[in-house]
Amino acid sequence: MEGAPIPRRFVLAKGPAAVVLTGLRRIPFRVLRICSEVEIVRRPVLVLLLAIVAGCESTSSDFPLLDGGEIEQHMRTLSSDEFLGRGPGHPGGDMAAEYIGAQFASWGLDAPDGSHFQAVPMVGTTTDPASASLSFGGPGGAVTPAYMDDFVLNAGDPVAEGAGGSAELIFVGYGINAPENDWNDFAGVDVAGKYIMILVNDPPAPAAEPDLFGGPAMTYYGRWTYKYEEAARQGALGAIIVHDTEPAGYPWSVVRGGWSGEQFALPPDPSGPTPAGMVGWVSLDVATEALAAANLDFEDLMAQAAGREFAAVETGVIVTASVESAVREVETMNVVGVVAGATRPDEYITVSAHYDHFGVGEAIHGDSIYNGAYDNASGTAMLLSLAHTISNMETAPDRSIVFIATAAEEQGLLGAQWYAQTPLFPLNQTVAELNVDGANLWGETDDIIVQGEERSELGLFVRPRAGELQLTIMPDAEPEKGFFFRSDHFPFAKAGVPSLYFEHGRSYLGKPEGWGNDVQAAYTANHYHAPSDEYSEDFVFDGAVQQGALVTSVLLDIARSDLWPNWHAGQEFKAARDAMMGGR
Ligand SMILES: [Zn+2]
Repeated sequence: MEGAPIPRRFVLAKGPAAVVLTGLRRIPFRVLRICSEVEIVRRPVLVLLLAIVAGCESTSSDFPLLDGGEIEQHMRTLSSDEFLGRGPGHPGGDMAAEYIGAQFASWGLDAPDGSHFQAVPMVGTTTDPASASLSFGGPGGAVTPAYMDDFVLNAGDPVAEGAGGSAELIFVGYGINAPENDWNDFAGVDVAGKYIMILVNDPPAPAAEPDLFGGPAMTYYGRWTYKYEEAARQGALGAIIVHDTEPAGYPWSVVRGGWSGEQFALPPDPSGPTPAGMVGWVSLDVATEALAAANLDFEDLMAQAAGREFAAVETGVIVTASVESAVREVETMNVVGVVAGATRPDEYITVSAHYDHFGVGEAIHGDSIYNGAYDNASGTAMLLSLAHTISNMETAPDRSIVFIATAAEEQGLLGAQWYAQTPLFPLNQTVAELNVDGANLWGETDDIIVQGEERSELGLFVRPRAGELQLTIMPDAEPEKGFFFRSDHFPFAKAGVPSLYFEHGRSYLGKPEGWGNDVQAAYTANHYHAPSDEYSEDFVFDGAVQQGALVTSVLLDIARSDLWPNWHAGQEFKAARDAMMGGR
C-alpha cells in the first residue's frame, strides 16, 4: 500500500522544538534538507512541509501535527483482547476508561472537580421473550405476530419492569410535528392513551418542494429516536414503527439484533416528557395485515402520508400488548481531560470520541471479543494523540478545550447524551463540539467528509483549512442514512451546540477511483459491529495524521477565535441555541 506511516522523526517533536506545518508544496524530492534543522518530506501527492523549528523561520507555525505512531500505539492497545471489547458497565469498559484517564493525568490535563471520570448512570433492560406479546384485532380479522420474527417491543420507560394495555390503533403517517415545515401529522387527532403506528424515515420530497425534509437526505424527523420522542410528547400509550428495509436503510435483522439481549438506556430525564408506555417495531407484513384487520390498505395510507393534507386515521383496530423485563442499574463513565484556555478559560470547545464497543458477545467464527478497532479505538486514539499534542503546546489556546472520551455510544449515544444533559461546563459557554468516530486507516486522501460543516458557521473554520491541506470537502456519501444523527456530536447538536463530525475521505492517493468506497463497503459488510473489527498490521496511519491535521487546525482556529458560530437559518437545532444564548 502506498503512503507508508509517517516516519517517527517527522512527527510531533516535544518541548521547545515543536513540529509545525508551514505549507504545502509539490516537490520532486524524496527528502530534502534545506537547512540543518528543516526537513521536507515528500509525500505521494500531498506534500507536508515539516519544519523542526530551531533556528529556522516558520511562516505559519500555527498548528502541530499528530503523531501517527502514537495513534497506532493507543489504537493497538485499546483494541487488544485484553480490553475485552470495552463493553460499558463491564470490566473491559472500565479498563479502557482507566487507561484513557491515566493518559490524561500523565499529560497534565485538568480534571474537572478533581476527577477525570464523569459517572454515567444507565439502566440495563433484559426482555423476557416469553412475556412479549402483541396482537391486533378489528372487523377484518386478527393478527398475532411472533416476537423477534415479526415484532420487537419494550417498555418506553427503561426503569419500568414491564408495560401492557389495550387501546385503539391510530395510523399517524410519518409521525412528524414540524412547524417550520408547516407539517403536523398529529393535527386534529388526540393520540393520548392510544397506540400509534408510524412510518420510518421522513416523507419523500414532492417535485414542487424538492428540499422538503432535506430532499433525499434524512432529517432528524426521520430517525426512530425522534418518532418515540414525539410519541411521548403526544402522550401515546404505545409507539409502533413500521420497518421497511429501503427507507430504514437496514434490514429487519438489524432491528432484531438491536433489541436482543440486554439493552442500555439512560434513566428518564425528569425535565422531559413521560416516555410512551411501550415502544417497538413491526415488520412491513405485520403492519399490512394489522391495517387489513380494519379493511384499510397500507400502500394507500402510505401514499396519503406523503402529502401535507394527510390526516391521521383512527383505525378502530384494538392493539393488545404486554412485556416484562428484568431491570438493573449499571454505571459507566465518560473520561474527561481539560486544557485550560490561556485568556478565556470559561469558553469551551468539546472534542469527543467514543471509547466503548460491544464487549464480549455472541461468537462469530470462534471469536467472541468485539474489539471495535476502527469503531472506535481508532477515533479514541486520535483523541488521545490530540489531547497529548495540544497539552504539549508552549502556549495554550485562548479558549479551553474539553476532551471527552464518551461512553456507551453503541447503546444509543448514551455517554454523550448524559454529558449534554448534565454538562461539566455550561452549554451556553460551549462554543462548539467536534467528534471523531473512525480514524483513517488506509492512507492519505485528497478529499474529506465533515458532517455538519454545511449546517453552521463552523463551516467557515473548516473550508479554509481543508483547502490549505488540499482536501476537497465531499458531501455526506450516504445522506439518506442520517449519519449526522448517529454519532456523539449529535446530542450536543440537539441541545443546540454547533457541532462537526470529522469522517475521513474516500478518494485515496494512488488508488483507482472507487477503491475507497469498496474498502468502506467491505468493512461494513464484513467487520462492522463484528468481532473481526480488529487491529490489522495492514493499517497505515498517514491518513489519520492527515485527518488529524484538519481536526487540529480547525480546533485551534476556533480556540483562538472570539467568534460564536451559530447554526444557519432553517436548521433543526438553531432555536435551541438561540434560546440558550439569549440567556447568556
Ligand atoms: Zn459502532
